[in-house]
Amino acid sequence: MPYQSNRPRRGSSPARGGVRSVGSYGRSNSGRRSGGKKGSKQFIHPSKFINKATAYEAVAYEATHTFNDFGFSNPLMENINRKGYTIPSAIQDQSIAHVLEGRDVIGLANTGTGKTAAFLLPIIEKILKSNKQSKALIIAPTRELAQQINAEFLSFAKGLKIFSATLVGGANINYQIRDLQRRPNVIIGTPGRMKDMIERKLVKLDTIDTLVLDEADRMLDMGFLPDIRSIIESLPESKQTLFFSATITPEIEKLTRSFMQNPHTVSVRTGETSDHVEQGVVEFHDKMHKIEVLTQMLSEEEFEKVLVFGETKFGVQRLSDHLTKIGIPSEAIHGNKSQSQRERALRNFKNKKVKVLVATDVAARGLDIPNVSHVINFDTPQTYDDYVHRIGRTGRGGASGQAHTFIESKQLSHR
Ligand code: AMP
Repeated sequence: MPYQSNRPRRGSSPARGGVRSVGSYGRSNSGRRSGGKKGSKQFIHPSKFINKATAYEAVAYEATHTFNDFGFSNPLMENINRKGYTIPSAIQDQSIAHVLEGRDVIGLANTGTGKTAAFLLPIIEKILKSNKQSKALIIAPTRELAQQINAEFLSFAKGLKIFSATLVGGANINYQIRDLQRRPNVIIGTPGRMKDMIERKLVKLDTIDTLVLDEADRMLDMGFLPDIRSIIESLPESKQTLFFSATITPEIEKLTRSFMQNPHTVSVRTGETSDHVEQGVVEFHDKMHKIEVLTQMLSEEEFEKVLVFGETKFGVQRLSDHLTKIGIPSEAIHGNKSQSQRERALRNFKNKKVKVLVATDVAARGLDIPNVSHVINFDTPQTYDDYVHRIGRTGRGGASGQAHTFIESKQLSHR
């Protein structure tokens, strides 16, 4: 249920924001934007931030394979078992066999549905089968996602004596160069740093036989298309290409058609993750009131693990500092932080050392943070797509989630 939705509204209390239901918005309002950056911000009608969660389908996905069916080598199979993976997720079930066959695959899957293993397991198998000659390049939109993929790789590759290098901005380039000198079989990175390393001739592309583009839609949103094109154009034509995306827009289709050969498409999207998130708006009168309402919400017990989105790096840091100061332990994650600071913030949030993570959109993209109880849009997102992506951080993998979007009173049409 949305915050306060089952209680009488106490609009006169300074610390209370009213939560509106869909029915409150009969007419469209004046089209004012919520006070954010000038120019590019899309107007999103407040009613779009209100939605009753639909129940998860009662019938769980029934996998048609077991991990044994894929014929993975014994040591890899042992690592899969050790990680506690018993049943393949839908994307794994439907794509692994095709990837193992060597086909190009387009995987359409929401984030958090197990696509990392869907490409990593066949890649590791390919490396083992090739006597460690095979090499893969994995491109991801954010540093954190690249690090997450690497962490998964390390756990699946335990004891197999195959190595990886993670090439991301904000981290010490000398360590990355050292990792490249160990002749890794798997290179994972973000487009900018990857391109930089390629231009310095530190990554040898002529031996790469597998390319993965993870969260391709996000990479396009973030303006990485020219970097990605230039990387793809430098790779051997004969490679196998795996392409994962939550959406397939005409732009993405054009891109995939230009560099994939007869791809097999697997779609396991079951509606938006956001369909399963209870969504409501929280009304505030002015800046002071906004902070008071947020503080009150975060003090409630049910707000266990809360991701708060802000618009600017500065605002995010200031809000996080303020929350910590008033006794609500919080971390901030935004582009002005070093890689190690971002990793520490994420770790403290994941391990529940702090209950609040305040983030900008870019920093939060693609992160796999289990059991986020609430997403709070302290500042409204730039676009509706960003909104869907933000609230997709909760309600993952069948868990229920709640999202609350702060809207200034004057934005709401009064009855
Ligand atoms: P991903 O979408 O790859 O980020 O995966 C989301 C989460 O699900 C990660 O924490 C994975 O470790 C976990 N996961 C992926 N596949 C499986 C599986 N077959 N069984 C259990 N957990 C899984």
